[in-house]
Amino acid sequence: ADERFDAIVVGAGPAGTAAAYTMAKAGLKVALVERGEFPGAKNIFGGVLYRKQLEDLIPEWWKEAPLERKIVEQRLWILADDSAVTFGHRNQRYHDPPNCWTGLRVKFDPWFAGKAEQAGAIPIYETVVTGLLRAGERVRGVITDRDDGELEANVTIIADGVNSLLGKQLMVHREWRPDEVSLAVKEIIQLPKQTIQDRFNLEGDEGCTIEIIGHTCGMAGLGFLYTNTDTLSIGVGVMVSDLKKKRVKPYEVLDGLKQHPAISRLIQGGEVKEYSGHLIPEGGFNSIPALAGDGWMICGDAAQLVNAVHREGTNLAITSGRLAGEAAIRAHEAGDFSASTLAAYDEAIRASFVYKDLKKYRGVHSLLAHEDAEQLFHRLPQALNDAAYEMLLVDGVPKRDKQRKAIRRVKEAAGGAYMDLIRLGLKGWRAMN
Ligand code: FAD
Repeated sequence: ADERFDAIVVGAGPAGTAAAYTMAKAGLKVALVERGEFPGAKNIFGGVLYRKQLEDLIPEWWKEAPLERKIVEQRLWILADDSAVTFGHRNQRYHDPPNCWTGLRVKFDPWFAGKAEQAGAIPIYETVVTGLLRAGERVRGVITDRDDGELEANVTIIADGVNSLLGKQLMVHREWRPDEVSLAVKEIIQLPKQTIQDRFNLEGDEGCTIEIIGHTCGMAGLGFLYTNTDTLSIGVGVMVSDLKKKRVKPYEVLDGLKQHPAISRLIQGGEVKEYSGHLIPEGGFNSIPALAGDGWMICGDAAQLVNAVHREGTNLAITSGRLAGEAAIRAHEAGDFSASTLAAYDEAIRASFVYKDLKKYRGVHSLLAHEDAEQLFHRLPQALNDAAYEMLLVDGVPKRDKQRKAIRRVKEAAGGAYMDLIRLGLKGWRAMN
């Protein structure tokens, strides 16, 4: 039957669950609506979960959450066809306090949603929200695919992910343009625990991440290879605009990565357990829509809150969900759910690392969407690898000559002239600052 809530949250991903948890804990009557059979049933990510932002909600959450491996080493590999230039950072200090872990959404999401349920949120799962109930400009609840499917509330928190149907209905954003999203494909590959530890130089529950630049068929994109307890997550995300332009299928890019000599040995002998695909918001700062209005707020991927440079999404989602929840609590106390009251959420986002980090990297989108992509993701990685090869090869050629040759290669990759290299360098610098 029709029922009235203080708040309805649409989507039990990290953003929605954080909002539901926050509000339920404060005593609000909250409905957490999720289309999946259970939260996380169909959700995927890379994926690395960060300690700090969830700790703001649940102290020492990691001691009870289902996690895979504690990350003690992060590597960055720049690939050419048959070679790799590698960087990385390993640190014992990441043991205590931990910084981040690998996780699987199919385990993490139900655990987190369970915490919201324990706090009092009412789970309404296997239920698709198909639209918003409106009274003029004001959102007064949601319409679901159930027979008795209207749910009313003072405030609706939209956390339905990157494809946000409700965001589109509200017209806070349109269908994302192909240059505002990347399409990621991912495989989970099973291997014995000990094999993973030996191959990645790990002990016990230690884990390692590898981010990969290059070898994406000249398209703007990033690959990843993460260690789980007894599986590896390998995947690649490529800008949809580039996939369209080059007419390459994303799984072809992933197959290419898996065959790279630096990677094939790490995954060798493993059994593919799962294959999935998902969009990632890439618009960044310039694509953030209006965040609140009369009776509604929007958070997480639905609001493009993803920092692609640092592969941070879940933590931005959790923070935005918490801040939306807190704004709802204050509105509840004041008995006022108007746009001007809920604007407190927008202000809180602006004051947080979420907004500041996205602002810092606001230029990155134009780098990804630009013809520079071919240079940045193909020619420069290739040139860097050639230069490293040249410098390290002991062949009797004087080092000064080698150095000249190496610099020439990098210069050529940037367009041929020093000015091109400087221009690209400056552009990259500006995009990251
Ligand atoms: P989602 O997690 O997408 O959750 C939305 C929820 O809403 C889903 O449960 C969905 O079923 C539900 N839903 C949608 N529509 C409806 C509807 N109409 N009715 C009811 N329910 C609905 N982030 C990191 O922090 N670290 C990483 O390593 C990382 N790697 C990634 C790798 C890949 C391949 C991808 C795709 C993403 C990655 N991210 C990573 C990003 C991260 O997954 C997202 O930023 C995060 O999940 C956003 O959370 P959310 O709650 O906003 O959305």
